[in-house]
Amino acid sequence: MKDFQELISSYRNFPRKGIVFKDLLGILKDPDAFKELIYMMSEDEVIKNCDAIACIDARGFIFGSPIAFNIGKPMVVLRKPGKLPGELITADYELEYGKNSLSIQKSSIEKFSSFAIVDDLLATGGTANCAYSLLSKLGKEVTGLSVVAELRNLNARQILEMEVVSQIEL
Ligand code: AMP
Repeated sequence: MKDFQELISSYRNFPRKGIVFKDLLGILKDPDAFKELIYMMSEDEVIKNCDAIACIDARGFIFGSPIAFNIGKPMVVLRKPGKLPGELITADYELEYGKNSLSIQKSSIEKFSSFAIVDDLLATGGTANCAYSLLSKLGKEVTGLSVVAELRNLNARQILEMEVVSQIEL
């Protein structure tokens, strides 16, 4: 198994003072590691049990797309403001370094009843929680959250009402 920790870089005080930004992009520069990671994530029950993969803007797309491709399931996107056309459903949230909102195209989720949420990193859990609330308020089942990495010291699992699977603890 690849040493994923070695491929992750830390940047202090980015994008704001006091934040240690974990840069996962090093994984993409190592095709064997990237492949291994996608295969591992594809094996999660959270992924296996859903009708569709709901990826969070923007780095969630990097990992959610190959998972959806690999297992042959539909992928939908939850995006930040101003990125999606059509009729949208939107929810606001706070994150480790600011405020934001996520929107989903109403038409993109109509056909599916259950979703796995995919993102790159779980920090405070605000983003994932927003995605969860948005989907559950629309009557959708959420099979869980699958992330590449998790900042365990922030205890996001405590506030999340869904199963959480992470491949790397930071
Ligand atoms: P949170 O809502 O606090 O769980 O933040 C998760 C989202 O913000 C993910 O989409 C991450 O890409 C990004 N993020 C938050 N904190 C960090 C961090 N320390 N390093 C890298 N990405 C982060």
